[in-house]
Amino acid sequence: MAKLHFYYGVMSSSKSAMLGINAFNFNRTGNKWEAIKPTTDNRDSKTDIVSRVGIRTSARALQSLDKYTPKPDTQFILVDEVQFFSPKDIEKLATIADTTNITIFCYGLKVDSNGNLFPASAKLLAEADELHSMETVCEMPCCSAMASHHIRFDDKGNIIRGGSQVEVGASQYKSVCRKHFHELYDNPSAKLSAYIYERNLQKTK
Ligand SMILES: [Zn+2]
Repeated sequence: MAKLHFYYGVMSSSKSAMLGINAFNFNRTGNKWEAIKPTTDNRDSKTDIVSRVGIRTSARALQSLDKYTPKPDTQFILVDEVQFFSPKDIEKLATIADTTNITIFCYGLKVDSNGNLFPASAKLLAEADELHSMETVCEMPCCSAMASHHIRFDDKGNIIRGGSQVEVGASQYKSVCRKHFHELYDNPSAKLSAYIYERNLQKTK
């Protein structure tokens, strides 16, 4: 029986970069690995996993893991953007870990831009042998708390509530701490652009 790991964090917490570094090290040590990602993640490449710092890892893009079988000599499976798979897919990964010697590293977001767990991430929190928090700092000015949530906003700085779960790409999201998430998300008149502007003024006073 092998282990199922879940590395979770917000956007820009270097999850895909860490996946790429693992793949690089497996190549160096001669370990056999394969990487998979959901087809939803087609931002930079249909197949490769591309991290924001530019580390590129070749992968298979799959819609679901229903028919997925790892190659016979695989020792490690790396899964990127795991939140976009389904809870059933996570069960499949757990079964692979339980019935083979393949160690599985999953990387993904824990919560969406409404502060709710992704179904696949909830399943992983319940099933994974090891949970690893990938930390990065809140993107609000003057805040040094750890980011745990995402705020989604339009180009005028209006907070977007409800709707679909986090889409791929960070252009209209900020990774924020819990306090700032609730300050912005729970206040119907809060505007991200104004908030940052006011905070910047305070900073320069
Ligand atoms: Zn904060």
